[in-house]
Amino acid sequence: MKRYSDEEILDMMQNMPLRELGKMANKRKAELHPNKITSFIVDRNINYTNICWVDCKFCAFKRRLGEDGEYILSFEEIDSKIEELLAIGGTQILFQGGVHPKLKIDYYENLVSHIANKYPTITIHGFSAIEINFIAKISKLSIKEVLVRLQKAGLASIPGAGAEILSDSVRDLIAPKKLSSDEWIEVHAQAHKISMKSTATMMFGSLENNLDIVEHWRRIRDLQDETGGFRAFILWSFQPNNTPLKEQYPHIQKASSNRYLRLLACSRLYLDNIKNIQSSWVTQGSHIGQLALLFGANDLGSTMMEENVVSSAGACNSMNQDEMITLIKDINEIPAKRNTAYEILETFA
Ligand code: SF4
Repeated sequence: MKRYSDEEILDMMQNMPLRELGKMANKRKAELHPNKITSFIVDRNINYTNICWVDCKFCAFKRRLGEDGEYILSFEEIDSKIEELLAIGGTQILFQGGVHPKLKIDYYENLVSHIANKYPTITIHGFSAIEINFIAKISKLSIKEVLVRLQKAGLASIPGAGAEILSDSVRDLIAPKKLSSDEWIEVHAQAHKISMKSTATMMFGSLENNLDIVEHWRRIRDLQDETGGFRAFILWSFQPNNTPLKEQYPHIQKASSNRYLRLLACSRLYLDNIKNIQSSWVTQGSHIGQLALLFGANDLGSTMMEENVVSSAGACNSMNQDEMITLIKDINEIPAKRNTAYEILETFA
């Protein structure tokens, strides 16, 4: 299998016709997934709090402590969301919040062990790198200690959220208080060292250029070479509505479908050591989400029973399991429900 250099992928990203890129990415996907299965997961996002001190300029979700509209879910509210998920056959919660300025490790340990003990069939995929990083700081623990304690409480894996673009010149502009690229990598590296898997993400379409995107891919590919701990890569486009970044830079527009498919295909080709690439139908809509399956994606992500973050910024797409199955069958692939570890639970031939 060919490994593309930074220069090669940059050239392909900028100059190769989209159809040709798509064909190459689809061929690569077929080599890795010869059984023509496209998977999805039935899960639910639970954003346990929207209170956050980090002030990312692309975020329309967060509230300051004490601000109108702030919330922190009670254990009972979380339980009832999980019970609704169980009722539709769900297996995973994507559990993330804002970065609360006061909550320490004990709160998170209690929360995770409460869920893990009460709902043993639910996999807790939760806490992005910035949350882990801040829990460590406020609790005066190392990143590793936080991860080990949460793992012991029942945390299974961590999502890739908060990577945005792993280039500090961009991060300084769009999220100056957020953790640096090295710190994001460090959290994931530490998780992989204790056999906790994670996913990697990229949010494009804010202030980055093509070189920043290649730098991002390189950081992810390098860590995957070292640890093999990323289960999947997911890219989505910045949703500008209601965000301070859009106010500051009014010229920023939502990225085109062409740009999304081009970057998706390049991700599949450059990230040769990551088996699963998700389509982001939540930000792109169901039809581009379907087309993404012909540009290298092999997974439709989540049926998304609840989504609060990108919907705050204007992306209000929704899809249930039946709609997903239809979209996948339409392109002559076999729909399959999977778990967090990408193991197939059920196919719908
Ligand atoms: S993106 Fe996350 S860390 Fe940044 S302000 Fe929003 S909730 Fe906070």
